[in-house]
Amino acid sequence: MSELRELYQSVILDHNKSPRNRGELAGANRRAEGHNPLCGDHVIVMARVARDQIEAAAFDGRGCAISTASASLMTEAVRGRSAADLKQLFEDFHQLVTTGVAREDSELGKLEVFAGVHEFPLRVKCATLCWHALRAALEGGEPVSTE
Ligand code: ZN
Repeated sequence: MSELRELYQSVILDHNKSPRNRGELAGANRRAEGHNPLCGDHVIVMARVARDQIEAAAFDGRGCAISTASASLMTEAVRGRSAADLKQLFEDFHQLVTTGVAREDSELGKLEVFAGVHEFPLRVKCATLCWHALRAALEGGEPVSTE
């Protein structure tokens, strides 16, 4: 295993063990749930949105290490972003986890730790579940399923 891979792995394990922004979000005005029946992941994503900007995001629920770490890192990464920024970030993240390569000037930053997920196609749904739920939350809060 390369050093970079080990680093990526340790970030994911850390966020699984000590998830950031987990639990209720004060003043949340957007909320949606996501299910990934293939793995059993269940995530609830909450956001506080004002003037088209995500002021804060949080999540709750149960899932595997990848889905929990992804939700934890996502809630950190989307703070302060507009809906348009979020759409681009989600597209870039989706490309990363399906191809293992980030778009050249993407703003993924720490989210690049999920590059290795592309080697495990079933895990792509674990990594993207929270993103689908956040998008649904911003668009009106319909529950989403990866199936
Ligand atoms: Zn999973």
